[in-house]
Amino acid sequence: MEIGRSLGYLRALRSLIKGSKMTSQIIKSASLGFPRMGARRELKTALEQFWKGNISKDDLLKTAADLRKRHWKLQKDKGIDVIPSNDFSLYDHVLDTAIMVGAIPAEYKANGENNDILKTYFAMARGREGNNDCGCGNHHIDSNIKALEMTKWFDTNYHYIVPEINAKQSFKLQSEKLITEFLEAKAEGIVTRPVLLGPVTFLLLAKCREDDIEPLSLLSRLLPVYQDVLAQLKSVGCPWVQMDEPILVTALSANQKSAFDYAYKILGDAEKFPRIMLTSYFGDVGDNLKTVLSLPVKGYHIDLVRGKKQLDAFVSHIRPEQTLSLGVIDGRNIWRSDLNALIDRLKPVVEKLGTERIQIATSCSLLHVPIDLNLEVNLDDELKSWLSFASQKLDELHILCQALSGNAAAVTGRLAANKAALNGRKSSKRIRNNLVQKQLENVKKDRARRASPYSTRHEKQKAILNLPLFPTTTIGSFPQSPDVRKARSDYTKGIIDKTTYESFITKRIGEAIKWQEEVGLDVLVHGEFERNDMVQYFGEQLEGFAFTRHGWVQSYGSRCVRPPIIFGDVSRPRPMTVKWWQVAQSFTSKIVKGMLTGPVTILNWSFVRDDQPREDTCRQIALAIRNEVEDLEKAGAKIIQIDEAALREGLPFKEKDKAYYLEWAVECFRLTQSTVKDTTEIHTHMCYSEFNDIITAIADMDADVISIETSRSKMELLDVFKQFKYPNEIGPGVYDIHSPRVPSTEEILELLGYALQRLEAKQLWVNPDCGLKTRQWEEVKPAIANMVAAAKTLRKTVSV
Ligand code: GLN
Ligand code: ZN
Repeated sequence: MEIGRSLGYLRALRSLIKGSKMTSQIIKSASLGFPRMGARRELKTALEQFWKGNISKDDLLKTAADLRKRHWKLQKDKGIDVIPSNDFSLYDHVLDTAIMVGAIPAEYKANGENNDILKTYFAMARGREGNNDCGCGNHHIDSNIKALEMTKWFDTNYHYIVPEINAKQSFKLQSEKLITEFLEAKAEGIVTRPVLLGPVTFLLLAKCREDDIEPLSLLSRLLPVYQDVLAQLKSVGCPWVQMDEPILVTALSANQKSAFDYAYKILGDAEKFPRIMLTSYFGDVGDNLKTVLSLPVKGYHIDLVRGKKQLDAFVSHIRPEQTLSLGVIDGRNIWRSDLNALIDRLKPVVEKLGTERIQIATSCSLLHVPIDLNLEVNLDDELKSWLSFASQKLDELHILCQALSGNAAAVTGRLAANKAALNGRKSSKRIRNNLVQKQLENVKKDRARRASPYSTRHEKQKAILNLPLFPTTTIGSFPQSPDVRKARSDYTKGIIDKTTYESFITKRIGEAIKWQEEVGLDVLVHGEFERNDMVQYFGEQLEGFAFTRHGWVQSYGSRCVRPPIIFGDVSRPRPMTVKWWQVAQSFTSKIVKGMLTGPVTILNWSFVRDDQPREDTCRQIALAIRNEVEDLEKAGAKIIQIDEAALREGLPFKEKDKAYYLEWAVECFRLTQSTVKDTTEIHTHMCYSEFNDIITAIADMDADVISIETSRSKMELLDVFKQFKYPNEIGPGVYDIHSPRVPSTEEILELLGYALQRLEAKQLWVNPDCGLKTRQWEEVKPAIANMVAAAKTLRKTVSV
């Protein structure tokens, strides 16, 4: 070929490529789910009014429909291309799925309510008052239908209803919700991508009433329902579905992996069904990669915030007919993304796969972040410029898609603003406290241990505390009755002044101390009347924390929480609890426990800064709590309890990450008390009962006394403490505080009997399962009296 001709050829080729670039489509932005509650928590209000009987079912459904419509429109206006439907739920999306497939335990269908599916739905979610009162005047818990169990959705603070199935279970498509909501959006001119919880995750999250059957063994029975609903979606013009299989980020057995093969070979049939975007989130797919890549689905959504490293593998292995959805905008945290860095990171992917085969998405549903930063009036502008809530995250998606599709000119201003805000955050004086940073460096070298081993401390503590065998105590809080909550809210609103409020709290503490003395408890508490929440109360008094007005995130059903935002180095400017402890101690000569929330729990229930390792932030909180521990000790507290209600829930999914987490979490807990005297007795409390897999870490916490939840398991959960020969003292809960029922002395004695089969008498404390703030005094008073009576009886019969 002569040179002239070949140059011309090259030129033509170049213009062809250029031309194709110019006509290439803009990358699609995808939202995986939007918060359900509404900016003013409209859904919460409607649900609670409906449950009270104040509004009709139609009113409730109308509020729900209005919210869906508003949220679809909002996403469309923000320029989102792939908008979800069926991400909405009246209570919980796992429960919706259970209803959809007809996994409804028989008792919920009772009372002729077969045809009112909403009644069944809420009965499964919340239980139902029984109506077979025998007339004896006692409250029979058994005459009520209990709610299904609720548990945490992976490592989020969202709780789902655990589906219950049985060996004879048959599945049948029971609800139209998925189709109805797709059509509802279509009528608004929006063709959505419906979200379905995938069949494998659904079954692996479900539990079976009979122990000997594995829910996953019912997969072949369940799949026809999915086929049914997918075929219906296809027939109404639905091109794609988002099939959520978050279980893919956990370690799966060979059997579980083949369940994926089996299911998606059937559901992946794009002739019969909409195309499937197989969606994983909350981490990388790890060892499941090969399985995932072999499935006959048309797309993968991957979490590139928590599973950064999986990008290359997917880019090199996806097949030509597949789409890759890149989850780069963090659906779990509230920080503004570094868009320029993301553009650099994703450019090579766009070059390799082209703009048509990729989508840019949120890492997971936006369910876990507040709805709109613009509602915040209390946060200052600087702090706000660092943050991004659900609505702002949609803007970020849009900007990224434009910039990566060769349309950077359209978004230059916004990219510059993004850069300026991030630079501002990096250089802000507010996030850095040099003293704290210096302390942090020092404690990293510290092993955070108490001066003497447990056996030495124990002897000294025993001599000072002078407690009887089976000492009795409570976990900290007493009923937060309406008048307590009203006083606090009146004080916050300025309706009553500080003196009035404080004398109210003082009076309450005085009464609580008097009653505890009368009922005969050995170690008293002040009752936590002044606390709104066990994390917020501390966060509000620490430097480095911010609080939103409207930053609500759904926790379960209609319940929402406002997690604090940890934006800077944490320190404690002044004592937080010492005064109320002193007030309480001034009323009695018995021992009053100091009561604190531990660093790991504060961390796990907050939005944590992303500019330093989580463990460093946790160490800073630990140091702040340590200052408080020291001040309590100085003021005379002989026993200090540091609650770690949420230590277990921070546990990573993968074995290899677990050990590292436990190591720093436990170290942080120990750090809070490494400076106290041998004679000071440190307690901790944990709100759960499964310790089998973490018993070594629990022992390594080295608390002198630990109280745990056990009343519902006949103390079998103590087996692991026995096998481990756990050396320190334990208070296994003997009163189930989740129920209004008052346990009798005999029952408590029975439970203590079971405990004595597993632990030595001298190790045992006697206490309820958890704090009593959600209970009523009428239940608490007799229950605690029975508990004390049980301990006294036992002292007469058992000796050491
Ligand atoms: N001290 C707290 C209370 O009694 C502990 C609660 C908890 O750990 N959830 O309320
Ligand atoms: Zn608890």
